Amino acid sequence: MISIALTGIGELTTNDPELGTLRDAAVVIDQGRVAWVGPTRNAPSAQFMLPVGGAAVVPGFVDSHAHLVFAGDRAAEFAARMAGEPYTGGGIRTTVAATRAASDDVLRDTVLRLCREALWQGTTTIEIKSGYGLSVADEERSLRIAREFSEETTFLGAHVVPEGADADAYTALVCGEMLDAAAPHARWVDVFCERGAFDADRSEAVLRAGIARGLGARIHANQLGPGPGVRLAVALGAASADHCTHLSTSDIDALSTSDTVATLLPGAEFATRSPYPDARALLDAGATVALATDCNPGTSYTTSMLLCIALAVREMRMTPAEALVAATLGGAKALRRTDIGHLGIGARADLVVLDAPSSLHLAYRPGVPLVKAVVRGGELAWQR
Ligand SMILES: [Zn+2]
Repeated sequence: MISIALTGIGELTTNDPELGTLRDAAVVIDQGRVAWVGPTRNAPSAQFMLPVGGAAVVPGFVDSHAHLVFAGDRAAEFAARMAGEPYTGGGIRTTVAATRAASDDVLRDTVLRLCREALWQGTTTIEIKSGYGLSVADEERSLRIAREFSEETTFLGAHVVPEGADADAYTALVCGEMLDAAAPHARWVDVFCERGAFDADRSEAVLRAGIARGLGARIHANQLGPGPGVRLAVALGAASADHCTHLSTSDIDALSTSDTVATLLPGAEFATRSPYPDARALLDAGATVALATDCNPGTSYTTSMLLCIALAVREMRMTPAEALVAATLGGAKALRRTDIGHLGIGARADLVVLDAPSSLHLAYRPGVPLVKAVVRGGELAWQR
């Protein structure tokens, strides 16, 4: 692998406590890793020099929550919701039927298309969940396909109880035969802990079964109303509690005194016209916050971390700097990764060259395609 030097970086955000934010900086990449960071004038030479002409450079975005393995879309449901119908979670079954009926190639093409779309918008790591198969064979193939695109794959057989199934019998299937089939292709186990989906006891059973099989735990918690999800996440040492839209003071305390990351998914509130989570309360309490897209065909059909950053700043009172950290380092922590989300020496060389002089423009210029180039694992993965 050749070495690359990006030089003339107007503003370099490293998320590294020692390096901080640098002006007129350079980054040298060797063997896919960050090898050197400092002023351009001191940069060692490399085989491939890439002057960026004063552009800002930030770590690649880490999207730690996405549902990409599905077929069909739910544009009509979105239109109905925008016309005043409430979101209840029932639409998931529409996507399950379409996903089961689709061929492997159709599912693979969808994941590929969405991963590319995410990459073009600066996402260099994306977590991919199953959860639209809800049978042993369909969950297994969803994860097998997801694994072709990401090492961060999550078994979400416990997304909803399928039509006509008994909740206890289905939970037993998820914890048994389905987990056996899914585990070889998954790093994580997840459950939709919500009224109308899985209650506290069933959620705990699913997560404990996954943990016993060596998977890490994450959870869909407190999205549609208050509930036990966040408390369960912290009690089980889950890497992340996702959504966190309806939190009590004790939920916030629990998150802020644990290493469970609060992952906020403002695309879901945007697309369901719901109140946003209280990011300010979480940050002020000292909780680690991540931002992710929740990309899915029902409630957040976007792959854009740029949109999430803009919403977090405008609607959730995060500062632009906090939102950028949450979209990079926060996502890395939610995936318990130390090699991504920052540009310290030795980090995986995942970075985004912005068509802007400063990372402030990520929130300041919403809806604008600000990503000029993406380096992933030390290779130029995309360039406009
Ligand atoms: Zn989700």
